[in-house]
Amino acid sequence: MFRVGIGTDTHRLIEGRPLILGGVRVESDRGAEGHSDADALTHAVSDAVLGALCEGDLGVHFPDNDSQWKDADSLELLARVIWLAHEHGYRIVNVDATVMLEQPKLRHTVAGMRANLAKTLNVEVDCVSVKAKTGERIDAVGRGEAVTVQAIVLLAKESN
Ligand SMILES: [Zn+2]
Repeated sequence: MFRVGIGTDTHRLIEGRPLILGGVRVESDRGAEGHSDADALTHAVSDAVLGALCEGDLGVHFPDNDSQWKDADSLELLARVIWLAHEHGYRIVNVDATVMLEQPKLRHTVAGMRANLAKTLNVEVDCVSVKAKTGERIDAVGRGEAVTVQAIVLLAKESN
């Protein structure tokens, strides 16, 4: 039995914050605003897994008004979501994600993001796709005001 889930996440980009995507600190003069480490890629993947499980979203499990999650490592939150998936008897088959960011170009950093996510998801790296697109200089992403991520995930029921 298979289940599919989708997740999207947007964070505002501001000066004085690190830009973390898939657990990788990206060299940038702007970073993502948010309560945890504001890792939009990891948040979108987490929401996709929760969606496949019909378990709400990240905000339900890790409320942003809870000081416990302030500056939290989002890969740690994803690990908890994966634990939940295993509790439901599911494993990850594959993930496909698109990061929409005007700059910098992510071509050379996606390998690290894929490795971090694969390790946390407990799958091989070739089961995790991370694509990078710009906003073509229009809308919030294109003006460099935001980073947006879309992710889709497939889960399979463990056979045992
Ligand atoms: Zn987020």
